[in-house]
Formats: sequence, structure tokens, C-alpha cells
Amino acid sequence: MIPFLDLKKINAQYEIELKEACSRVIDSGWYILGNEVTEFEKEFATYCETEHCLGVANGLDALVLILRAYIEMGIMQKGDEVIVPSNTYIASILAISENGLTPILVEPNIDTFNLDPTLVEQAITGKTKAILTVHLYGQVTGMDELNAIAKKHNLKIIEDCAQAHGALYKGKKVGSLGDAAGFSFYPGKNLGALGDGGAVTTNDSELATTIAALRNYGSHEKYKNLYKGMNSRLDEIQAAMLRVKLRYLDNEIQARQSVAKAYLEGIHNQFIELPVVEDVNAHVWHLFVIKTTQRVELAKHLNDNGVHSLIHYPIPPHRQLAYQEWKDDSFPISEEIHEQVLSIPISSVMDSKIINEVIRLVNKYNV
Ligand SMILES: *Cc1c(COP(=O)(O)O)cnc(C)c1O
Repeated sequence: MIPFLDLKKINAQYEIELKEACSRVIDSGWYILGNEVTEFEKEFATYCETEHCLGVANGLDALVLILRAYIEMGIMQKGDEVIVPSNTYIASILAISENGLTPILVEPNIDTFNLDPTLVEQAITGKTKAILTVHLYGQVTGMDELNAIAKKHNLKIIEDCAQAHGALYKGKKVGSLGDAAGFSFYPGKNLGALGDGGAVTTNDSELATTIAALRNYGSHEKYKNLYKGMNSRLDEIQAAMLRVKLRYLDNEIQARQSVAKAYLEGIHNQFIELPVVEDVNAHVWHLFVIKTTQRVELAKHLNDNGVHSLIHYPIPPHRQLAYQEWKDDSFPISEEIHEQVLSIPISSVMDSKIINEVIRLVNKYNV
């Protein structure tokens, strides 16, 4: 069976260094907010070309904390609206509602799966305070258009970079393209820890200071609490794992890009639409997502022949039971995407034999 993502094999490449880093933390006797987190924050800020990075517990909390900080800073208040793509992973939306803010769903472009800037402007009201854009599957959103809209309407731009570590827009790294960004280091992400982890990057010093307190019970000085904060810290042990894996992130991205190039060149099937890519080398290919009206049959054909595929995502957010308030709303582009997408294996540990086998089987699919 060709697995969708062989995490064990991915981490085995770095086994010696990961075990050394693990021992270093055990031997240090210091397990929360110590040297490993501080060093990782510096290294990841440098990588993302931002001034600040704050390690937090996971990607959802990274986004929750950015919005919470804007509320504490008086920039947003409960009831304000945040624009978010209607086809994103649910976590982007949860971060908004968790703060008592209102998520406003805006449809993506059917080809790129990313927010459609022309629809964003129509959704802005007097209560809109931010656009939470998601670089879905690893491809960056049209940031120039979004930044222009944000400037015109005085909105914050928050990037959800959970699927896009290292992706580029006009040569600049994601995480540095808006006012603040949230990253996830969930094990299956392109930069994955060996457990949960997340980070915020920003060039806004006040935002960084506020989040540093909020992630640590709202404490700005030991035993003094400025805010009603959370406990959401990146563990020392995960920071140590991430410092190892960050050194190889660019290799990981290049390997994924070569799989994507092989798929884009090799897959030819009238029943399948390949992803529309602006720049194959700027995209970091967290997922390789094809579209087909025959998803059930194609997935079965692949599975019967030993290739594991997944759906990202089968149910659109407005059809989730958690968001009953949207049950009568319709987002046709998002619905079409959710009905037709299928993700085929992509990772840094696929050799050409495996890649060619996936291509052969996808091309062989016939009704
Ligand atoms: C994974 C993911 C998140 C959440 O990250 P966690 O670390 O799992 O909390 C948020 N947004 C997107 C787009 C994701 O893919």
C-alpha cells in the first residue's frame, strides 16, 4: 500500500538528531518556556523574515491568541466581524467564534481554492475588523489585492499559515505578508513537531508583547496578571524537535515540489482536473488536491490498487452541526469544492517508482 503520508519514515530521516535534541531537553531539567523555545522563536522568526515569533500550544491557539490580543489592545471588540474563506479547515473559523467575533464566510476562487479578493470587498460592513486569509493546501493567497482592500477599509490581515510554512509570494515568506500569522506544527504539517505545537509571527511589537502574556495566563511579570489569559505554550521538547526539523524544511519543500511537478506533467485523465498553480516553486504542496465529479469511484480505484487518498475536506464549514446558524445559507463554490476534491499522496519520502505508480494508476482510471 502506498500510504497517504508516511510520518514515521519522514521523522526517521532525522532520528539521530531528534534523539540528541530530546536528550538535551531531558538533561536540562527545564521543560516549559526555556532556552529551546527562545531559540526556536528566534530561528523561526528569521526563517519567516519577521521581527517576532511566539511559540504556542497549537495552530488553533495561535489564531485565537492573535484575535484575543487585538481585543485586549482595543482594536476589536466582541460582535465585530472577521472575513474568512468558506472552504477553509474549521479551525480558522473556530478561532474567530471562540473570541465572540463573527466569522463572515466569503467564497474562494474555484481554481486556486483561495479567497477571491473581488468577493471580499463586497462582504465588508461597518463591523468588519479583519480578513483571516488561509494559504490553503500550501499556495499563497493574492496578498497585494487583500492588502490593498485592508488598507482602504482599515482592516487587519491575519494569515493562517498552518499549511504553508515557507511558501513564497513575490519572493517574500508567508508569515510576513500581513499584520500577524498563525502556524501549526501538528505532526502532519510540512513543519511538524512530534506532538502539538504552534506559533505566531508578526512585526508588531505591541501584539507580540500582548500574546507573550496571554499565552502564559495573561502574566506580563511573574505572579502579576494584566489579562485574563490562557495556558498555551510550546513545550521545550517540541521546540527542540522543531529546531531540528526547521533545518530541513527547505529540503522537505523541494522534495514536495518535485513530486508536484511530476504529477502536473504526468497526470492526464479526462475525468480529473489538476490544481491550478500560479508558481510551482512558490507553492509548498502541503496537499496535492485534484478535482473530479467521480470522487467515490476514483478513490475506490486507487484504494483497490494500493494507493491511499484522503478528502480535504468532505463537509463545508456551513454544513457542520457546530454552526447551525449557517444551515440555511448556501456557498455554491465551496459546496462544489467539497464534493469534488481528492488529495493524492505527496511527501518528501516518495521515490520515483512510487510517484510513477501513483501517476500510472490515476491515468488508468476510466469509468
Ligand atoms: C491544521 C490547521 C489548523 C489548526 O492547527 P492545529 O495545530 O491542529 O490546531 C488551522 N488552520 C488550518 C488551515 C489547518 O490546516
